Amino acid sequence: MSRPFNFSAGPAVMPESVLQQAAAEMLDWRGSGMSVMEMSHRGKEFVQICDEAEADLRELLSVPQDYAILFMQGGATAENAIVPLNLLGTRPARSADYVLTGSWSKKSYQEATRYGDVRIAASADHETQLDGRRQAPFTWVPPVDTWTLRPESSYVHFCSNETIDGIEFAEWPDAAALGADVPLVVDASSHFLSRPMNISRTGLVYAGAQKNAGPAGVTIVIVRRDLVGHALDACPSAFDYAKVAKESSRFNTPPSYAIYMAGLVFKWVLANGGVQAMEEANRAKADLLYGYIDNSGFYRNGIHAPVRSRMNVPFTLADESLNDAFLKGAAQAGLLALKGHKSVGGMRASIYNAMPLAGVQALVDYMKAFEKSHG
Ligand code: PMP
Repeated sequence: MSRPFNFSAGPAVMPESVLQQAAAEMLDWRGSGMSVMEMSHRGKEFVQICDEAEADLRELLSVPQDYAILFMQGGATAENAIVPLNLLGTRPARSADYVLTGSWSKKSYQEATRYGDVRIAASADHETQLDGRRQAPFTWVPPVDTWTLRPESSYVHFCSNETIDGIEFAEWPDAAALGADVPLVVDASSHFLSRPMNISRTGLVYAGAQKNAGPAGVTIVIVRRDLVGHALDACPSAFDYAKVAKESSRFNTPPSYAIYMAGLVFKWVLANGGVQAMEEANRAKADLLYGYIDNSGFYRNGIHAPVRSRMNVPFTLADESLNDAFLKGAAQAGLLALKGHKSVGGMRASIYNAMPLAGVQALVDYMKAFEKSHG
């Protein structure tokens, strides 16, 4: 059976071999007589699945031992509250600074303001001039040396890949270079495992799994252990990092099937060369798509080139009235879910780890043919 290419931003395409393995193990996980869905989260089988997923993730990202890896619920949206509830109390000022580069970091900031003295450290929510060109709001990243950080703040938050806008931090800032000893907190949801990530440069990294790391339902949190154990009284116990860490992500019933699936994805990444190999493949896919867009007079991506996302590629057509025809033809050609987010319009191709180069080539071929017949 040949499947279409799915460019959904998330939940998103999964490696086919992972889906096949899950199907093969659906009724009976390795002779246990149970589906993973049917197992107690405290039984030895699931404990093994969960611990192996954690160990594989630690290996994939070279996560140092002084960081805890947690599998949580609530999605990245819940982390917008869970992070301040856990980290504001690490310093007496209970303050935090947020960098706004797109829709998701703006949402994170808005939620965090409910819990403490939260301010904007830098914002790209306005026009600017860069390299002699006008950049629209949320198409660029404020240079790190313009971020205003308060030394007493508990953390500085940024989103390392803005899924809707299509902006990616080419490099994560170096905390030392920020000139203030403030831990970095990173929403890495939509490019998690797409490239090596310098965890030891951060205080905390979180990611919803449903783009590169598995199905919806599990949120991954990697947190430096010295930042754990300072939750505000108002923090729900199930969201207190200290309680979750102490019970190895089994403080209460975890999203066990989603953890199992994420574990299979971790093994798939390991077997396919790890995050270095993912990065090379992702660079090749992104270069192919951006290269074609930039050489065409018909399609356009307006993101400042050095911060274009390798994962989420938004683009517009010269004539917006052709959008529906473009999407209809794409679906007929087996290219799914290319409609852009409603807040920015146009198209968006999400090209996560599990999207093969052949999928991007098929998209470019379709775009060329569409340009020829409508351009
Ligand atoms: N942050 C980023 C970067 C995202 O892409 C998303 C979801 N698309 C979220 C946060 C919110 O995730 P969730 O819907 O799982 O809460």
